[in-house]
Amino acid sequence: VCGPARYRPRMASLVCHACAERFALDPARWRCHCGGVVDLVGSLATTPIDLGLVATPLVRLADPALDVWVKLEGALPTGSFKDRGNAYLVGLLAEHGVDRVVADSSGNAGASLAAHCAKAGIRLDLFCPETAAAGKLVQAEAHGAHLHRVPGTRQDTAAAAQALAETGVVYATHAASPFFVEGTRSFGREVAHHAGDAAYAVVIPVGSGTLLLGTWREVNTAVPAPRLFAVQSTACAPLAAAFAAGQAEPAAVTATTSIADGVLVARPPRGGQVLQAVRISGGAVISVDDDAVAVAVRRLAGVGILAEPTAALGVAGLHALHAQGWLDAGLRVYCPITGHGLKTPELTRRLALRS
Ligand SMILES: [Zn+2]
Repeated sequence: VCGPARYRPRMASLVCHACAERFALDPARWRCHCGGVVDLVGSLATTPIDLGLVATPLVRLADPALDVWVKLEGALPTGSFKDRGNAYLVGLLAEHGVDRVVADSSGNAGASLAAHCAKAGIRLDLFCPETAAAGKLVQAEAHGAHLHRVPGTRQDTAAAAQALAETGVVYATHAASPFFVEGTRSFGREVAHHAGDAAYAVVIPVGSGTLLLGTWREVNTAVPAPRLFAVQSTACAPLAAAFAAGQAEPAAVTATTSIADGVLVARPPRGGQVLQAVRISGGAVISVDDDAVAVAVRRLAGVGILAEPTAALGVAGLHALHAQGWLDAGLRVYCPITGHGLKTPELTRRLALRS
């Protein structure tokens, strides 16, 4: 039975977050002419690339102050949450006949993208920092990615990938792609399902902020919506600095080094959106140092959960958020363990053994 036109699903399109310019759906579009990021409008029926995407396990963490549940994203096919976004992004690219893409990654996103591109038969040129974790590069190489190691900062790596994209190769950027963010909505859906009617907060490690943004797209219409908290590394905290200063856009920072290497993003393309989502939800952005991350890695290892340092950032931020009054005693809190500790075996071993 055909209903009136107004009840038909809207055709999916893209809209610029900065200037509101609209674009027809185009899997290659990741930004506007003005430089702003673009968002998906309407619904898009895409078949994800199937590597065995599952709803990830939730495990309760004994905690003296809070009702903490950690969500083990390491159980996803390539060992990190990035599979949620890439299954959707690469599914869309494949449906549109794209046969070659370029991307940049500090590790997990690239490993995940390589696996999905392998399944879809898409050539991937992957640019990564010289310092990227060995375990992650091994994955990408095994899946057939053409690796380009770039000296310098994470931003230098992104610039090298974008230079190839300028020649016409589709830029499959997890940090900016509206389709990657759409894929990460499933995390928010799984958490909301588990929470039921309980009030809750979500505390998420944030570099580019895609997992937080996908979660917010999924849960922002809930009443009441959960509060979202972003945790960065003090080695590179443009969003924490902007939040503290009341600024709408990421602060200018220079990244130093950290054991939490997966979140050292000095200029997150969707940083303004992350700050907006966190503020609307009633949450906050904080940063924690490497000592706090190491404590969190050991705490998790001690109860059978092996997290790479970046993945332990959320747990590392819990104590500070509670101490600062952001999380009331007894509140239900969900915290993704974004990547498996086997991603960084030597680092994980050193941290877990240090007393
Ligand atoms: Zn624009």
